[in-house]
Amino acid sequence: MELLVASRSTHKISEIRRILEVVPNIRVLDLEEMCIPYDPSEEELEQFDTFEENATSKASYFRRVTGLPTVADDSGLEVDLLGGAPGVRSKRFAPTCGREGIELDQANNAHLLALLGDAPFEERTGRYVCVAALERRKPERTGEQPTVVRGVASGLILDVPRGSGGFGYDPLFLDKELGRTFAEISPSEKNARSHRGRAFQALAERLMAAEVS
Ligand code: IMP
Repeated sequence: MELLVASRSTHKISEIRRILEVVPNIRVLDLEEMCIPYDPSEEELEQFDTFEENATSKASYFRRVTGLPTVADDSGLEVDLLGGAPGVRSKRFAPTCGREGIELDQANNAHLLALLGDAPFEERTGRYVCVAALERRKPERTGEQPTVVRGVASGLILDVPRGSGGFGYDPLFLDKELGRTFAEISPSEKNARSHRGRAFQALAERLMAAEVS
């Protein structure tokens, strides 16, 4: 089975590829390999208020564009003291425009730290959420609903970044059980414990059980 991972994030794609390695007879493709150039209108695919709607919208769009079975994820960080923000707006949280990559991550992290100020450690609770949506066949022909799975990882938001691995908010996200941030653990440890790891492990199980065949 060929499966397109509809993401522009190289970090996400490499995490997802590793997790889906357990599925036999699967060939994972990404948008770059499929030579699908970035189109700014893609940003409009994730303007909804829930991770589920955003993931489904991206999967359906790229399923239509490529004709391939497609999985897309939408993910983000929910911080309790901020009423669940940044949530689905995690990628564009800081009030700056035009930044990408490491600069964007640094701006988002600085903004998060500024909003949390000197809030006490034990109150800086939050969670990463990842929702993955898989659209295999043309729903207009089969009436088939996308397969949607959710993964959650709970943690604490530190007041100074730690570690150089991962991406995004990882240097601030402390896994309490490990006593290390997601930027201080190996890629395989992160996949075993992270929101994306949990969501895509669930998806891999569904694929292997042929529940979605
Ligand atoms: P989207 O899913 O492409 O809309 O972007 C989600 C945003 O949430 C990313 O740009 C990051 O800022 C943040 N995020 C999601 N997953 C992770 C993760 O595993 N580590 C760090 N940041 C993440």
